[in-house]
Amino acid sequence: MLIVACIKQVPDTTQVQIDPVTNTLIRDGIPFIVNPYDTHALEESLRLKDKFGGTVVVLTMGPPNAEAALRKALSLGVDRAILLSDRVFGGADTLATSMVLTAAIEKLSQEDEIGFVLCGKQTIDGDTAQVGPGIATRMSIEQLTLVDRVENVDYSDKKVTVRRKLEGRYERVESRLPAMITVVREINRPRYPTVPMRLASADAKVELWDNTVLNLDVNTIGLKGSPTWVSKIFSPERDKGEIIGDGINKPEETAELLLEKLLDKDIISI
Ligand SMILES: Cc1cc2nc3c(=O)[nH]c(=O)nc-3n(C[C@H](O)[C@H](O)[C@H](O)COP(=O)(O)OP(=O)(O)OC[C@H]3O[C@@H](n4cnc5c(N)ncnc54)[C@H](O)[C@@H]3O)c2cc1C
Repeated sequence: MLIVACIKQVPDTTQVQIDPVTNTLIRDGIPFIVNPYDTHALEESLRLKDKFGGTVVVLTMGPPNAEAALRKALSLGVDRAILLSDRVFGGADTLATSMVLTAAIEKLSQEDEIGFVLCGKQTIDGDTAQVGPGIATRMSIEQLTLVDRVENVDYSDKKVTVRRKLEGRYERVESRLPAMITVVREINRPRYPTVPMRLASADAKVELWDNTVLNLDVNTIGLKGSPTWVSKIFSPERDKGEIIGDGINKPEETAELLLEKLLDKDIISI
């Protein structure tokens, strides 16, 4: 049974700035990290294998330097790492991204049965949360989004029970396998690599699958296969903020000052 984890290498957005003239991201000198939600998807894949068995394969679509994300996954104990990289995959929107990831997962399914595909709930750069559901739709498999707990797995009956974390409530869902699971941070605490595993990952094999392997129509992938049009990127203007009270006031007095300000600015009325 295959457990496929999709991870994306993203710029560390705590350090990204937007060029005020061109309105584009300033990427120079920005360190890349594994999308934080994806570290939880990776951890859950490894836990599924530890508890219920299976083989963990990790996929990323990106430029050659995205290999670093896969080496990190190898240092944590995944069985196989595949980099999906080709110039024709470049400039992909979420539709074209999920097209390539789906093709890779379907190719893997020719080797072994797919049990799970795991994604983060969203990325911290694109932030759309579309790729996981996009893959599930293309593969015609169940999609279990915003999962904060995998409660039970029954490979023989091909069933999984998960808990979904929704606004103000939880939802328990039983689903058929294979299933796409997108995870929230609360699902687990990612492990750290051991020193021997980290050293071993430097020489471990990362497979490269380009479009000669996936053989996709170039009009359905990359820039050509991306109908999304980004008209503008900008930083929202924010007020500088104001500290109310002097730190010596009692909390009730500070609350009263805040109330006065809100009334003055017509933000609230009584
Ligand atoms: C017109 C256009 C052009 C673009 N050109 C580029 C470009 O040239 N270079 C570029 O880097 N981005 C480009 N992007 C951004 C690109 O669309 C997104 O990086 C990508 O589609 C993923 O979307 P997201 O970040 O919103 O992921 P989400 O949908 O928020 O991600 C959800 C989950 O899906 C999985 N996932 C997402 N992306 C990947 C991936 N690549 N590999 C493996 N798993 C993944 C992860 O598990 C992630 O947590 C472009 C976007 C548009 C609209």
